[in-house]
Amino acid sequence: MKKNFGLLLIGLFFVSGLTAQKIKLSGVKGDFSPCTTPLGDGFMKAVDTAAGRQVADNYRTWENGDVILVKFMNNAGSKDIRNRIMQFAKEWEQYGNITFKFVPDNTPQTNIRVRLGGRKDSMGHNSSVGIQCNDVPQYLQTLNLDTSDFIDYEGYEKELNTGGPFYQYLVRKGVDFNNYTYGELYDDIRSYPDPARKWNLKAMGRTSRHEFGHSLGLLHEQSYPGGIKWNTDTVYKYYASRGWNKAKVDFNVLEVSDQFFTNGTTYDPRSVMHYAVYAWQTLDGFSVERSSEISEGDKKIIGALYPKTAKVSAIAVPKVQISNLSGLVVKTDNVRKGLLIYPSFDLTTSAVLGKVHFVARLTTEDGKRYIPTANVRYSWNKMAGVYLPVNLLPSSKVTYNKGLKKNLELFFPFREMPDLQGKKVKVEFTVYLDDVVNNKLNRLVAYSLSQPLSMPL
Ligand SMILES: [Zn+2]
Repeated sequence: MKKNFGLLLIGLFFVSGLTAQKIKLSGVKGDFSPCTTPLGDGFMKAVDTAAGRQVADNYRTWENGDVILVKFMNNAGSKDIRNRIMQFAKEWEQYGNITFKFVPDNTPQTNIRVRLGGRKDSMGHNSSVGIQCNDVPQYLQTLNLDTSDFIDYEGYEKELNTGGPFYQYLVRKGVDFNNYTYGELYDDIRSYPDPARKWNLKAMGRTSRHEFGHSLGLLHEQSYPGGIKWNTDTVYKYYASRGWNKAKVDFNVLEVSDQFFTNGTTYDPRSVMHYAVYAWQTLDGFSVERSSEISEGDKKIIGALYPKTAKVSAIAVPKVQISNLSGLVVKTDNVRKGLLIYPSFDLTTSAVLGKVHFVARLTTEDGKRYIPTANVRYSWNKMAGVYLPVNLLPSSKVTYNKGLKKNLELFFPFREMPDLQGKKVKVEFTVYLDDVVNNKLNRLVAYSLSQPLSMPL
């Protein structure tokens, strides 16, 4: 024991006895990962079926006054970084009637789940949009943050040249400072077990505000119609150097929203929801500096979506949420001579009156293609099917076909079908929302596919 202590002292003396010299780094300095909402990295794809790009997606906002439950996942992140992210997220609460309630990691049911990741897992920064979070299974995250983008790299680089603790750590590690690259330095900074981690609070604040903005229903401000006149060739080249293909750039950067979703706001280049835009990326030399703070425009839109002075937002639209959609039961009935279709789910409506269509369509055995029909009554967009229009009461919840109670049946008579005798088919069940007032029709809100079944001879 005594011997070890002596060795340790020698070690410390040896390290601090070194004089730090200006270390020349080769390679290029790292860059920040851009936000990849709502494309994500696959984990949100399944629910992003009605993708529209807009300043705020009114069909995905929470109900005014909602308390949104948020937790961090997998015990990741220090208390320090969690507290900071929490405070950045909660800044939004000042401007709208909405609350992020952070709950312990072991809470079984939450609306938002934050995954703190690192460079190696390459999940980047992204979030499900608004109530889309509720479609994500509880074991998956709804919001990704790459904390390696929040490290104060400059601060550690400074220590490199002043002989601070980080420099001493590198010496102990046996780093060869001849031919030391920025890439190696950044890897070393990320793996440096610093109990008092130095953070770049500007980067952490900007990204946390931005991603939690998505979680409230906001989308990228650069999608504002007519906001940016992109020089598409140079934009593709720029993102290609970051490993993004054309489709990803089209979706995340170049997509322009529908005028409806601007909600009467004006284009706001100061928005925290705006990407940085460089003059060489635009045809007219226009540029936008990446904003770190919640802008006046951001405050306005959040205040309009979640008003503190009214019960319901003046720009609220009808919304439905389908949950627990499971076990699509389909039976052939030889007495009634048709297919009986029993989807099972819970349906919750928002504060505004809406209308949905429950649609069941026949597909081929592999579930990949619909079956065309000339029948006008038993069809949906000229494909064999049966549908039921339903007017929904505001702020209500209905449970369909759970337990023994059968309160929703779709009936498809054999005589109304194309000739399918003896063939195998599947039944696809979907729910579409119609916002008649705003002329926004057929928004897909739920989807389910049955097992294959044989049609009678
Ligand atoms: Zn984003």
